[in-house]
Amino acid sequence: MRDASKAMRDASRATRDPLTERRLPVIEMFGPTLQGEGRVIGLKTMFVRLAGCDYACVWCDTKYAWEPGQLARSEPLAPAAIVARLEAAAGGCRRVTLSGGNPALHDLAPLVEQLKARGWRTHMETQGSLAPAWLAEIDSATFSPKPPSSGMRTDWAVLAQALALCRDPDLKVVVFDEDDYAYAVDVHGRFPEVPLTLQVGNRVGEDTAATLLERLNRLADRALGDSRLGDVRVLPQMHVLIWGNRRGV
Ligand code: SF4
Repeated sequence: MRDASKAMRDASRATRDPLTERRLPVIEMFGPTLQGEGRVIGLKTMFVRLAGCDYACVWCDTKYAWEPGQLARSEPLAPAAIVARLEAAAGGCRRVTLSGGNPALHDLAPLVEQLKARGWRTHMETQGSLAPAWLAEIDSATFSPKPPSSGMRTDWAVLAQALALCRDPDLKVVVFDEDDYAYAVDVHGRFPEVPLTLQVGNRVGEDTAATLLERLNRLADRALGDSRLGDVRVLPQMHVLIWGNRRGV
């Protein structure tokens, strides 16, 4: 009788043929760089940005990942090709951040499987509007539900489902105004066991390092004096302070 596990391995190998694998729409790949946001801030990482988003936040700083004209310019790459490109550029880095857009729109199970098999640590960034089963295979994920200033609405049940699937989740809320701050407090009240970061809002094309630091100062003072936020981080987007609002950093 044919060995069942061998058959599974053969099948798995068959799906890794770059000519037959389902391709993913890649907007950009870059790194090594430093993770600029959330609980993993400062860590050296490669980035893979995938096309498409189910949201359209008014202040989105990566519209090039989902606006129609840009979407058509994404490069369809098989998971094996993505891994090969990462390894050619990584220079010893073995951490990768899967971002977007919303990377949860795509079936990333084959990519995550191949990355893990080659010793990569996987991190994902998503707003938590979808809860695909493969989230359970990701090493860690930052969920950034969008506050009122984004113009989007949160499906709390789906966010809870996504957080429960992920083995090492954290939450990040961007704060532009009072309503966003109240939303962040609400998020912390709903998911007190998940580490929360408040991130200073950044208006691309308007904000400078000086205005961001000024707003960070006010947000820090506010959070430090707020007993509802007993366990919270307050951060800027570090990559913006270092390199400005540029792509590919
Ligand atoms: S969810 Fe993220 S990528 Fe999508 S529109 Fe909002 S900020 Fe942009």
